[in-house]
Amino acid sequence: MKFLKPGDPCPCCGNPIKTTDPQDLYALTVLADWIERHRSSDGREEAAE
Ligand SMILES: [Zn+2]
Repeated sequence: MKFLKPGDPCPCCGNPIKTTDPQDLYALTVLADWIERHRSSDGREEAAE
């Protein structure tokens, strides 16, 4: 997964990320990764794995 950095679009609201706190950036990165997995699973998350 690619790490988000300040200025990237926020996964929850789409605004540019303002925080420079590494823990906040990590949390947003995990959230973005989770959202991406669910999008790409195309509603078939039960069948995956
Ligand atoms: Zn946000």
